[in-house]
Amino acid sequence: MIKAQRGTKDILGDEILIWQKIENSAKEVFQNACFNRIQTPIFEATELFNRGVGDSTDIVNKEMYTFCVGGINKDETSITLRPENTAGVVRSYIEHNIQRQSPPQKFWYFGPMFRYERPQAGRQRQFHQVGVEMFGVADAAADAEVIMTAVELLKSLGLNDLEVELNSLGCKNCKDDYKTSIKKVLEPYLEELCDDCKMRFEKNPLRILDCKNENCQKIFEKEEVKKVIFGDYVCEECKDHFDKLTSYLDNLNIKYSKNKLLVRGLDYYNRTVFEIKSNLLGSQSAVCGGGRYDGLVEMLGGQPTPAIGFAMGVERLASLMEKIEPQKIDYYIVSNNTIEAMKLAQKLRRNGKTADYCTQNKKFTKQLEKASKVANKALILGEDEINQGFYSVKDLNTSEQNKVFDFEML
Ligand code: ATP
Ligand code: MG
Repeated sequence: MIKAQRGTKDILGDEILIWQKIENSAKEVFQNACFNRIQTPIFEATELFNRGVGDSTDIVNKEMYTFCVGGINKDETSITLRPENTAGVVRSYIEHNIQRQSPPQKFWYFGPMFRYERPQAGRQRQFHQVGVEMFGVADAAADAEVIMTAVELLKSLGLNDLEVELNSLGCKNCKDDYKTSIKKVLEPYLEELCDDCKMRFEKNPLRILDCKNENCQKIFEKEEVKKVIFGDYVCEECKDHFDKLTSYLDNLNIKYSKNKLLVRGLDYYNRTVFEIKSNLLGSQSAVCGGGRYDGLVEMLGGQPTPAIGFAMGVERLASLMEKIEPQKIDYYIVSNNTIEAMKLAQKLRRNGKTADYCTQNKKFTKQLEKASKVANKALILGEDEINQGFYSVKDLNTSEQNKVFDFEML
């Protein structure tokens, strides 16, 4: 038997009902907030992620599904299954010259992402993200708009007990000072840091703060290290931006906590970064991650454009949601005349009703049994009904049965 690949999953049965709810709620919440849907390709040039996600990230270093296509005599192109969607949306934004439209330009997406990770609860190799990207606004109002939209989606899914965590990474100027201070204070402990952090020390020292390794965590607890990590390092402009954001959130009645250790995995973030967590999820606790990436559009060849977005993990959302009972259909047609049943189903469906019928010409009693399991009403189409032109409608909740002569009355 051929089985699904490690780290991938079929979504069906009870679970697909939850997924449909997530997708439908996302559609409603994002449309109400005037985000337009975008669908970018599943694979892109590898170069896009090397530059757009950053080659000091775990994603680019260890997690990408990269392969070459084309034979020896054809153009060989290295392509990669998208590990996230921000780089793809930014590529599309630049390619279609969307920046000529007046800002803000707001997009949302829902789709599969691919990362070669060790599969465990809440962590797969093919997983799904639903997210938004907002371009063109440097003010903290955009940060608040994006965070508000994430919170609204979670609320509409009935997920209220979630924690919003915020941090500011600062801008080009203050971020570099912070990096230098972090390196300086950690240098004496370099040998004790884990291998990943040893590499991060040179390439991306802020990411060290995000490390889950116990030994590294212990080092962050040391007084002199703590002093640097928790010290005020962001410049006045960045501080103003952050204060403005928290005041917007206060006014919107959105609760948050500040977390200086929140640095996020991707290279391109500046100023605001945020995560939304649930303590019901165990060690894979983040359902949503996001942040501002003002330099990315320019870095990928577009005009300088401020931008901010988030991505939520659909599998993690789904695991937090309660089971959804399948809905009964409107009509189950009970008939031994398959053609008439089929024609009636066609007509009902065209009228927006959910309708089904027996395609195997089973006994009447069997069909009625099936109807009472799956439908609110049985629509009985026996010889009398067909010859005399009426429908016998049995309400399966009350067992009441009526003759209906006019299709429009169904
Ligand atoms: P983590 O720290 O859990 O690895 P991340 O920082 O790699 O998260 P992002 O790239 O910010 O995650 O992705 C946003 C969200 O997508 C995460 O908060 C999580 O809900 C989900 N996610 C990320 N990677 C996976 C995965 N391999 N399987 C399932 N969901 C994932
Ligand atoms: Mg990750």
